[in-house]
Amino acid sequence: MIYIGNHLSSSRGYLAMGEAALSLGGDTFAFFTRNPRGGKAKDADPADAAALMELLGREGFGRLVAHAPYTMNLCSDKPSIRKFALDMFCDDLKRMENTPGQYYNFHPGSHVGQGTDAAIDIIASALDTAMFEGMTTTVLLETMSGKGSEVGGNFGELRRIIDSVKDSSHLGVCLDTCHVWDAGYDIVEDLEGVLDEFDRVIGLDRLKAVHINDSMNVRGAAKDRHAKIGEGHIGGEAFRRIVRCERLQGLPFILETPNDDAGYAREIAMLRAWSRGEEAPEV
Ligand code: FE
Ligand code: FE
Ligand code: ZN
Repeated sequence: MIYIGNHLSSSRGYLAMGEAALSLGGDTFAFFTRNPRGGKAKDADPADAAALMELLGREGFGRLVAHAPYTMNLCSDKPSIRKFALDMFCDDLKRMENTPGQYYNFHPGSHVGQGTDAAIDIIASALDTAMFEGMTTTVLLETMSGKGSEVGGNFGELRRIIDSVKDSSHLGVCLDTCHVWDAGYDIVEDLEGVLDEFDRVIGLDRLKAVHINDSMNVRGAAKDRHAKIGEGHIGGEAFRRIVRCERLQGLPFILETPNDDAGYAREIAMLRAWSRGEEAPEV
């Protein structure tokens, strides 16, 4: 089995997200730890967080996949932006302990002309600073499409980040289907081959979560525009195989497709049916 859910708004707090996920048929979800454009986070209410944890246990949820602000660039060429990003990263990892044992996913960053090697060192040292003794969160590096000067557009770059940190025991990877497709990995014709390569380069034991998105672009476009499941260039048949894939069982699958609530409920029901080898229910 797999866990399925979508990205939810955190504006009404922790428990409200758990209830929203349930109402859409989800058994995991994603949320931004603060305004997705960055900036100050609301103070977390520990009682609200505890109420969510209780709901997760009672309802048998998989792990949650929190998402760092997408503007957070740990390897910016500007020291002030780098510091701002690192401060957010440190603060987020502390606040994640309100909901112990979950995932915190981030985009490795864009090197903006400094080159990939320099960026990998900066990202690794940021991780060394932000991760702390006794933390229960696992930090996930997201596979990127490689647009612009993005780091993480191939598995090798993620491996190098993991190899460059002092202690990688709390590091994993989140595979975004749209991003790897846009980066050139053929998950349509050769899903197992792509996973073999992931295993060879990074190790499948590091694969902790999937962002399940179709893509508006052809393979290798290095763009990153998400489409609804079955409405992009990856296509429904490939997603049937993805959710049935033996090596992906047990993981949380997060939808970041352009949808309203009804659309998410439909996609969750469809993917859940497919993951069981059944046809999608009529809605
Ligand atoms: Fe992302
Ligand atoms: Fe993603
Ligand atoms: Zn994306």
